[in-house]
Amino acid sequence: MDFNLTEQQHEYLDTVRRFVKAEITPQVMAMEKDHAFPWNIIRKAWDMGIMNLTIPESVKGYEVDMISAALIIEELSYGDTGISTSAMCNDLANVVIAQQGTEEQQHLFLSPFVERPLLASFGLTEPGAGSDNSSMSAFMEKRENGSYVLNGEKCFITNASYASQFTVFCKVGKPTSAFIACVIVPTEAIGKAGDEETSEPPRERTPLEGGRILLGKPEDKLGQRLSNTASVIFEDVIIKPHQIIGDRRLGFKYLLNVLDYARPMVAAIGVGLARRALDLTLAYTRERKQFGKRICDLPVARETLVAMWRKVELAELALMKAAFMIQHQAPESGLYSSLAKNVAAEAALFCAHEGLHLHGGYGFVSEYEISKLARDAHIIDIYEGVREIQNMIIGREIV
Ligand SMILES: Cc1cc2nc3c(=O)[nH]c(=O)nc-3n(C[C@H](O)[C@H](O)[C@H](O)COP(=O)(O)OP(=O)(O)OC[C@H]3O[C@@H](n4cnc5c(N)ncnc54)[C@H](O)[C@@H]3O)c2cc1C
Repeated sequence: MDFNLTEQQHEYLDTVRRFVKAEITPQVMAMEKDHAFPWNIIRKAWDMGIMNLTIPESVKGYEVDMISAALIIEELSYGDTGISTSAMCNDLANVVIAQQGTEEQQHLFLSPFVERPLLASFGLTEPGAGSDNSSMSAFMEKRENGSYVLNGEKCFITNASYASQFTVFCKVGKPTSAFIACVIVPTEAIGKAGDEETSEPPRERTPLEGGRILLGKPEDKLGQRLSNTASVIFEDVIIKPHQIIGDRRLGFKYLLNVLDYARPMVAAIGVGLARRALDLTLAYTRERKQFGKRICDLPVARETLVAMWRKVELAELALMKAAFMIQHQAPESGLYSSLAKNVAAEAALFCAHEGLHLHGGYGFVSEYEISKLARDAHIIDIYEGVREIQNMIIGREIV
């Protein structure tokens, strides 16, 4: 097995590293304190070509391979996991179009993201359907003219306040239906320039084909305060047949493929955070002296640093294996996606918390970045399927 990166992968890494060093690290603490959505960073990331990684070349996208995508997301997450969550969410929402959409759908729903810095949302979770997402009740009902009407509520939706397009999973016919469809809802914002500049996020969007989208107040979160999260209500939203991806009864199958792609991306977010926590802690413990020695030279503290390093390295290996499996469409890719997600979430939580501990009282002060990482790390163990769900998948596969 070849562990060398290609020349292009090195180029990606250099580009993102430079971007993070110049645009994120110097201002991340001030930005996250303000809790303002970092549109300027998103726009620059788009300019540099480190967003919308899954859009096919046929629509003038980058169609970046899985390993490169994982490396890009990991490096971006080293800067801030809220920003990388927001950037990655475009792929979470759009990959199903790339995987299952017709040529026409790919052109219609993906090309706006190539042309302008736009955001997309992925609408799966509902107030009553979190881990058990197949119990969702949002549904679309057929009308006499052949189109459908979508009604229902989604919650915790990343980018929702600023999204120009929503990928939505919903039941077909009635809320209790056994069939789930995947539909694309572009809004008026997809064709409008400059809309994203408003400081106050809009509370309503107009779907292109009719109906209303009502947006909740952005959630005031413990961490990842540079990503936007809000609830979304779809009210009599018209869905024309061309907005349905693939077979309208196979949305759940498509969802599983999306999650197999997305979980390694969450793992990349976890590895990026864990590595940042390790680096911050190494720097701090090399400087700080107690008992006449640098903290990093005190044996028990050194042991903790080694344990942190080990977690980062093993999580990186799990991430690369999952990315490799998906790239090669291996039948076990779901198993390794879940493994990578859990191992990386564990690394992120461990490194952030132990790192905070090795900062002593300073780690508990909000001015120190390690305290922000400790807040940010929790969600990595939760979104895209909580730890127990990943273990359920792993258990089912290995048994
Ligand atoms: C910041 C943020 C961003 C998000 N972004 C998106 C997004 O863009 N799109 C989207 O659709 N969703 C998104 N989510 C939702 C996220 O994926 C869900 O919160 C997550 O899947 C868990 O669902 P839940 O919150 O309803 O928890 P629940 O399902 O209610 O679970 C609560 C707890 O119960 C336990 N539990 C649940 N099921 C089991 C089980 N089978 N066995 C054992 N224990 C179990 C676990 O400990 C779990 O943590 C986001 C959430 C947050 C907070």
